[in-house]
Amino acid sequence: MYRDGPATTTVGSTVRIQFWGTRGSIAKPGPSTTRHGGNTSCVEVRSARGTLVVIDCGTGAHPLGQKLMSAGANDLRGHILISHTHWDHIQGVPFFAPLFVPGNHWDIYGPKGLDQSLREALTGQMQYTYFPVTPDQFGATIRYHDLVEGVFDIDDIRVTAHYLNHPALTLGYRLEADGATIVYCCDHEPHSQSLADGQGDITGQDLQHCEFVQEADLLIHDAQYTAAEYPSKIGWGHSPVEYAVKIAQHAHVKKLALTHHDPLRDDHAIDCLVETIKTHLNSGSSPLQVFAAVEGEILDIEQPELKTHKNDTGQFKATTPIEPALAERSILLAIADPITATAISEVVSAEGLRFNSFSNIDEVRTLISRSRPSLAIVEHNATLTDTITICQALHQTDDELPVVLIAGREDSALGIAAGASDWLIRPFSRSFARTKIRAWVLRTACRWKRAAIPLDEETRLASLRELGILDTEAEERFNRVTRLAAALFDVPIALIGLVDRDRQWYKSCLGLTAKEAPRDVTFCAHVIYVREPMIVPDTFQDSRFADNPFVINEPRIRFYAGYPLILDNGSCIGTLCLLDARPRTIDHLELERLRDLADIALREICAFSQ
Ligand SMILES: [Zn+2]
Ligand SMILES: [Zn+2]
Repeated sequence: MYRDGPATTTVGSTVRIQFWGTRGSIAKPGPSTTRHGGNTSCVEVRSARGTLVVIDCGTGAHPLGQKLMSAGANDLRGHILISHTHWDHIQGVPFFAPLFVPGNHWDIYGPKGLDQSLREALTGQMQYTYFPVTPDQFGATIRYHDLVEGVFDIDDIRVTAHYLNHPALTLGYRLEADGATIVYCCDHEPHSQSLADGQGDITGQDLQHCEFVQEADLLIHDAQYTAAEYPSKIGWGHSPVEYAVKIAQHAHVKKLALTHHDPLRDDHAIDCLVETIKTHLNSGSSPLQVFAAVEGEILDIEQPELKTHKNDTGQFKATTPIEPALAERSILLAIADPITATAISEVVSAEGLRFNSFSNIDEVRTLISRSRPSLAIVEHNATLTDTITICQALHQTDDELPVVLIAGREDSALGIAAGASDWLIRPFSRSFARTKIRAWVLRTACRWKRAAIPLDEETRLASLRELGILDTEAEERFNRVTRLAAALFDVPIALIGLVDRDRQWYKSCLGLTAKEAPRDVTFCAHVIYVREPMIVPDTFQDSRFADNPFVINEPRIRFYAGYPLILDNGSCIGTLCLLDARPRTIDHLELERLRDLADIALREICAFSQ
């Protein structure tokens, strides 16, 4: 039933998508599923340049692997994005033939758990008891990437990962390439149960879900249930089709592919479901196109005009080493009910996290400054005012601290007044609470953003390289400037740093032994982008830097001031910057002195090439 697509597709700016598994939960081969298919989740995406991305590796990965093998490639390079490690999304891994071919290179990405790496989770199913071949027998070179929410690039494809609502930690993926946007959201259920029937207003976390899928050319969305079936499936982590349609419409999605078909729904039932949805959309003259994903089906998305990356403004980086940030953080608990308190504290401990309980508002400020919490969990069992007062006190001390409310039912008025980020509705299972807490903790543990790339990046780099200054020896005429700066501002570190493509290289570095740093983690990369002086009085209070590796590890930066170095031709090549381990600030007169010093540094840099 597979139509053969070429191994690489180079049709203008066409992104090609092929569905290889559309079934949810368990493979369902048989006469009743011949049209929509019986294999579990697997989608192939190819950019116009031929970058190969496989999303999920359910049993559909087996025929995909066979196709790739028959194309005869023996130096194949591909990427696998795993949404989560439930079986229906990974069962094809041990049967995916290209992983066994020496010379092939595969990068496998999936959500980072706290207690197990992606590699351990994926290869657990290949233990001797379950499978005859061990992961050591993979012949290909395989690299595993543990992801948190954020943005990263796979060759010419920009990938944004976003947590979904599922009993296991699950990521949705937004792929942007060649001007086309494809978003994959399996497995996911509504955050708010009021949206289950596709009615009601989209708020809170569901609104963020909408933003994540915004204006996708193709949204591949979990639609395992109908609104009528959903009430008995709440908490199972799958969407009613009505919710998927509501989200797609609200987000101005062009095409919606319903997928993760319930194993109990045969081809005819899926057709009926789609017909009902189409009739409903036509009556409201909605431009949204809806169809049920069909195994083997190929879709080409052509975009004559290139869109810019939606996330070019700088986002969290998805493949961030976050252990140090996690180790520094804790969870605040305000839970009166002893059974709930025990359950939550056990869940938190099982995640290897510390927690602090508080019962009155006066403790909040001290606890927040002492323990740098990732999250507060507040039980709503007293009067409305108490809950709101507690949450307000939390936000007054840390306005970005996420607060999860525990309650018997959702109350949007209360949620808004309390500034709640999320709900934990009773009764909940421990595994559900654990997933929710883990997602929030990982999300807040990456409170640092990489800087966006300036629009004139290539010209800027050309100007920098023309100077011929990179990787030259240290010189007194530059060291004089950093020495003066450090003395004048009474800081331990002063740098003249030049921002190269992937690194910042220091022409002079007073107070640091390193000669360069990766660009992604440097503060100066932000200055290069904004082309203006940047002052960060306290990194702990700034969501761009709070968990930056240079903040949580040596040199433990708390204060930063950087002045841009801009050449006559307009290229911003680096900064003169000051760093301190104490929070502080500088006034406008001091800033003028920093500018004078930056001018001297710039003059020396320009003199360098002459
Ligand atoms: Zn699933
Ligand atoms: Zn699942």
